[in-house]
Amino acid sequence: MDPNEFREFGKATVDFIADYLENIRDRDVLPSVSPGYLHDLLPTEVPENAENWKDVLKDIEKFIIPGITHWQSPNFHAYYPTATSFPSVVGEMLSAGFGVVGFSWICSPACTELESIVMDWVGRFLNLPEKFLNTADGPGGGVIQGSASEAILVAILAAREKSIKKIQIQNPDLTEGEIRAKLIAYSSDQSNSCVEKAGLLAAVPVRLLPTGDDLILTGDIIRKAIEEDLENGKIPIICIATLGTTGTCAYDDIVSLSKICEEHDIWLHVDAAYAAATLILPEFKFPYKEGLETVDSINYNLHKSMMVNFDCCGMWLKNAGDIVDNFNVDRIYLKHSFENQSKKAPDYRHWQIPLGRRFRALKVWITLRTIGAEGIRNSVRKRIKLAEYFEKLIMKDSRFEIVAERTFGLVCFKLKGENDLNKKLLDKLMERKKIYLIQAQHRGESFLRFVICGFDPQEKDIDFAWNEIKEQTDLLLASHPRYTEIECRPNDEKIINEISKSLQKHLLIENGGKGKQ
Ligand SMILES: *Cc1c(COP(=O)(O)O)cnc(C)c1O
Repeated sequence: MDPNEFREFGKATVDFIADYLENIRDRDVLPSVSPGYLHDLLPTEVPENAENWKDVLKDIEKFIIPGITHWQSPNFHAYYPTATSFPSVVGEMLSAGFGVVGFSWICSPACTELESIVMDWVGRFLNLPEKFLNTADGPGGGVIQGSASEAILVAILAAREKSIKKIQIQNPDLTEGEIRAKLIAYSSDQSNSCVEKAGLLAAVPVRLLPTGDDLILTGDIIRKAIEEDLENGKIPIICIATLGTTGTCAYDDIVSLSKICEEHDIWLHVDAAYAAATLILPEFKFPYKEGLETVDSINYNLHKSMMVNFDCCGMWLKNAGDIVDNFNVDRIYLKHSFENQSKKAPDYRHWQIPLGRRFRALKVWITLRTIGAEGIRNSVRKRIKLAEYFEKLIMKDSRFEIVAERTFGLVCFKLKGENDLNKKLLDKLMERKKIYLIQAQHRGESFLRFVICGFDPQEKDIDFAWNEIKEQTDLLLASHPRYTEIECRPNDEKIINEISKSLQKHLLIENGGKGKQ
């Protein structure tokens, strides 16, 4: 393909993307294909002769689109959002065009330095403590990892190596193997599955401690576990807390956790993959923001709620030396004369698992510049407002109840009555493919998770989802005679307002901020 053909192909593709995102409501959010569908449609060999790009683009519509789950549709309400935005797509294009791999500063100074600059931008935007910034005095700093899973694995590995060195000094009689066999980590039963996986990969068992009814991991809970483990000769090394759990968006109590972690000199990592976005809102009183002063590392997925497309996970460390010193496996061919100059020009290969790294900072820089801080804030506000709107619709219908406190863009609700009913409702919704939600479970109780996702969700999309849920509920209950036995008291306005007020206790609206929120 020559440059002129690329110009045509590229421009046609930009039009294709713009049309796709502009008209995304025309498509069912879930695909109607069966497993193996694409294998039946495409040839099994590389085409011998070059094909025309126009045919390829046509085949995107014909073969690929039918097998796309439309994450950018406003009717996607499953998992947590994965963002995209026009400027971010352009950032990806440029990154692909440059085709650089910035593992050390000399491999593309702009790739490294722009990353350290935008990580400071985002760190300040999130109101993170100064110590996490690349340009602050001290050993802290920020880096872009591919995903929260990688960030958490990096944190566990760093905590592991740091602890082994410490224990070797304290107990010279223990062999390294003996120490490794005793290591143990903590998280809650609400933490993301990637925490457990990171523990498996790092060969450090993670105890997923049961939380109380509020689903919050507290200092008291880990203190008991730590004391128990110390008595049994184990070596506690890290606690992975969550701000905004995947099931219900609960916020662990960072203040009390950090106190216990400091007492026992264990690493505290905060997984704020989704909910850290609320830290950018001045009117949002983040429950445990104060505790962030003492944590060792934190991760936040810009690709979830900062309009940057996947993949882009910001990770900030109190002491980058903890990973740089432990992951440093230099070879002569990786050395360069500008090495270790300053935190403004780090060799980011030491901060991550792979050697190669993408120029992700470009899409962050372009997105933040063209949308601006207030634009991003308003996008987060809009999502909170839409979730609040959906929650009100649910509360007005006496057949439903809210099962967890809502703070951001996730509403957890259920049909009153047996678990089975919610499963049946979900099955109906999935069959129809108009909206996509998933279920979750806590202490044997099933509920549905409704998350505000998509490229540009609007109030009309929430109405659409609600009508779909309501209609399918009507049909389900009509064929479910036992349901009439369940007493459903009408949820009157007064009760709704009271619930709504108590649910809002984390959202302390400042004077004058009410309208904006
Ligand atoms: C989404 C999410 C993850 C997983 O994120 P990846 O970037 O896909 O690894 C982990 N933790 C929480 C709290 C999440 O919301």
